[in-house]
Amino acid sequence: MKVAVLPGDGIGPEIMREAQRVLQRVRPDIATESAPVGGAGYEAAGDPLPAATLALARECDAILFGAVGHPRYDTLERALRPEQGLLRLRKELGLFANLRPATVYAELAGASTLRPEVVAGMDILIVRELTGDIYFGQPRGQRVNEQGEREGFNTMRYTESEIRRIARVGFEAARKRGHRLCSVDKANVLETTELWRTVVTELGRDYPDVELSHMYVDNAAMQLLRNPRQFDVMVTGNLFGDILSDEASMLTGSIGMLPSASLDANGKGMYEPIHGSAPDIAGKGLANPLAAILSAGMMLRYSLGDAAAADRIDAAVKAVLARGLRTADISEPGATRAGTEAMGAAVLEALQ
Ligand code: NAD
Repeated sequence: MKVAVLPGDGIGPEIMREAQRVLQRVRPDIATESAPVGGAGYEAAGDPLPAATLALARECDAILFGAVGHPRYDTLERALRPEQGLLRLRKELGLFANLRPATVYAELAGASTLRPEVVAGMDILIVRELTGDIYFGQPRGQRVNEQGEREGFNTMRYTESEIRRIARVGFEAARKRGHRLCSVDKANVLETTELWRTVVTELGRDYPDVELSHMYVDNAAMQLLRNPRQFDVMVTGNLFGDILSDEASMLTGSIGMLPSASLDANGKGMYEPIHGSAPDIAGKGLANPLAAILSAGMMLRYSLGDAAAADRIDAAVKAVLARGLRTADISEPGATRAGTEAMGAAVLEALQ
């Protein structure tokens, strides 16, 4: 097995170093190869996604991605900007399923904007469709209508096969967790999502061991705030998933703790923290590496078929938090401050 490591920019290389050390410890047999992407790709080859980086990503069994972006590239033409490296990778590799866990560790429940007793123990996985919906549907555009008024329009569109393949990811993920799947739609108003509900319900017959429920998106947004612990896995389309996954991740209060995955039709995937390249703290050894480390864990679970190693990583992260060790972003009075490298080392130690 081989993993492509794409550290990117800013704190990307710092956090990826720690994730690689952890991966190496739990699975020394997995080979890794690094390549530049984002601003680093532009510096190395004049392209945020150099051909050699894309070739490596294609050839490997999974991809670990750091973060891209820096204000110094903001004036480049759009195609050369760092984020294009990430967007093109997703497109070239056909990554249609986005998995975003939102976990609140008991020790960090105080970091949430909600009361600790509401969020403590929350552990949700949001499965979002990434390549369809109103973001891609045709026709789209702006025009002057027959009344001479400017008008903007987009089209929400999903085919049966697109719904089925993302719903399948949701059911399979639920099987790996708490066996409950909540499908989020707006079937009372939108025909596209009426079809969504029908197809998800049909597919549910293949998964009698998974308890399927349906919820309207407005209610889901409310329930995430009211009682987030009721959810295990949520599956939804691109637009609703965009909004709900950000809402859920903010409930945890700690951006440096959250990993994510984007999967293709064969389960191959790219794994990355949800945070960006944090140029404000880059190079200072302050970045929290736990989201990157947990991303490596997700990669083992969802693409490399090693749930036991993923469980070991998750448990080691929990143990480090329980010891009171905190990077600056999750620090609180009385905590023991650790930098990027010390936090990574503590996870390695907890793995022993
Ligand atoms: P950001 O996530 O980089 O940073 C937001 C804040 O959170 C900053 O104060 C930062 O210091 C802090 N932070 C982020 N990750 C942290 C970590 N691991 N440990 C400790 N603190 C952390 O978002 P931003 O500031 O809006 O964007 C900075 C750059 O990152 C931009 O160029 C943006 O385009 C890019 N970006 C990239 C990705 C990605 O690569 N997937 C995602 C979001 C933003």
